Amino acid sequence: MRQLKISLKDNSYDIFIENGIISKANEYIKEVYKNKKVYIITDSNVEKLYLNQVIEVLKNDFIVDYVVIPAGEESKCLNVYASVIDSLLEKNIRRNELLIALGGGVIGDLVGFISATLYRGLPYVSIPTSLLSQMDSSIGGKTGIDFYDRKNIIGCFKQPSLVLIDPLTHKTLDKREFNNGMGELIKHAIIGNDHLFNLLLNQSIIDENIIYESLSVKKRVVELDPFDQGERMLLNFGHTFGHAIELKMNLKHGEAVAVGMLMAIKFGVDLGLTDSDIYSKVKQVLDLYDLPSYEVEYKEYLKETLYDKKNLAGIVNFILVDKIGHAFIHKIKEDELKWML
Ligand code: NAD
Repeated sequence: MRQLKISLKDNSYDIFIENGIISKANEYIKEVYKNKKVYIITDSNVEKLYLNQVIEVLKNDFIVDYVVIPAGEESKCLNVYASVIDSLLEKNIRRNELLIALGGGVIGDLVGFISATLYRGLPYVSIPTSLLSQMDSSIGGKTGIDFYDRKNIIGCFKQPSLVLIDPLTHKTLDKREFNNGMGELIKHAIIGNDHLFNLLLNQSIIDENIIYESLSVKKRVVELDPFDQGERMLLNFGHTFGHAIELKMNLKHGEAVAVGMLMAIKFGVDLGLTDSDIYSKVKQVLDLYDLPSYEVEYKEYLKETLYDKKNLAGIVNFILVDKIGHAFIHKIKEDELKWML
C-alpha cells in the first residue's frame, strides 16, 4: 500500500493506493466520515463491474444508496447534474451526508461539482476507476461540467475527503482507455520524475508504486499552485500541441498528449532549450506502451497556440523540458511568434 497526503491551506486529505482497496473501502471511509448514510454515484459501465462489490462492503458500516448515470462525456452536463440532484433529494439526502464518486473522470468531475454546490457543500470520497482519473483528476480539486460543447466551462475547486485508488480496476479497462491514462502518467515522469521514467522503461505493470511516483509529481505542483495560477501550467506539457491535433487526428486525449509531447520536444530542441537526446528516449517509452509516437510538424500548429485559452495578454506560454524530469515555462510574445510563423 502507498499513501500520499495532499496538504492544502483549506483542506488536506489522503490518497491510498492499494490492490484490492475497493473491497475494504468501508475501513478507510469510516475514518473520515462519522454519519451513517452514503450515496454512491456511478456510471452505467462501472455499475456492472464494481457497484455491487462496493455496496456489499460498505453495508458493513453504512446505509448505502446509489444513483447511476449513463456512461460517457455527454453526462457531464447541466441536465444530468440536475437529474442526479433530483434523485438525491428524492432520497432525502441531508447536508452532512456523504457522496461517493465511483468511476472515471466524468463521474469525478460531476460528483465533485455536486458535492460543492448541493446544500452549498457536502463531503465526498473519490474512488477513481479509470487510469486517467487515477492519474489526473484524483488530485487538484478541479470539478465541473461541460456547457454547450464547451468543456469544463462551469465548475469550481472542491477537495475530496479521501481518495481510494485500486490498480486492479485497470484489468477491466479497454486498451484505448488504459492508454488514455498512460499519456498523462508518462507526462508526469517527463516533467518531474526521472526515476519514474526509468521505472517505465524497465517494467510494464502499472502497479501501486508507479501510480504513487506519478501522483507525487502532480501533488508537488498542485500544492504550490492550488488554484491554477502559475506552476500548475507545467502539467500542460504536451497539451498545447495535443489540443491542436486531438480532434483533427481523431485521437483520445492521452494519445494526443503523447504526440503533443514529441512536438513540444522538437520545438524546444529547435529553440536550443531542450537536450536533443530526449526525443528518442520519450519515443522509446511511448512505443513500449503502445502510444502513438509519429512525428507531426509542430510549425503547422504554432498558429493555433495563439488561441489557447491559457494565454495571458500578448504572451504565449509554452511548457518545455530541458532534461527528463524537469519542465519549465517558456514565454514567447505573440508578435515574436507571429514572426516565427
Ligand atoms: P470516463 O469517466 O468517461 O471513463 C472512460 C470510460 O471508461 C467510460 O466509459 C467509463 O464507464 C469506463 N470505465 C471507467 N472505469 C472503468 C473500469 N475500471 N473498467 C472498465 N471501464 C471503466 O472518462 P475518463 O477518461 O476517466 O476521464 C475523462 C474526463 O475526466 C473528462 O471529462 C475530463 O475533462 C476529466 N478530467 C478531469 C480532470 C480534473 O482534474 N478534474 C483531469 C483530467 C480529466
